[in-house]
Amino acid sequence: MRIKHCDICKEDFDTLFRIQYKLPKEWVFVCEDCLLKVKKDNPLYRYGGTWKR
Ligand SMILES: [Zn+2]
Repeated sequence: MRIKHCDICKEDFDTLFRIQYKLPKEWVFVCEDCLLKVKKDNPLYRYGGTWKR
C-alpha cells in the first residue's frame, strides 16, 4: 500500500502517522501537524503506527 499524502491537508510528506480520529472509525494517514490538531481533546483518537517513505 503506497500512501503519499496527508488525509487532512492533502500535502505530501516523508513521514505520515496512521491514526483514527473520527466516525466512522477508519485508518487514515496524516502529517504531524494535522495529527496534533485532531488529537487534542479527541476521545476517538487512536494511534496505529508511523509510515516512512
Ligand atoms: Zn496534514
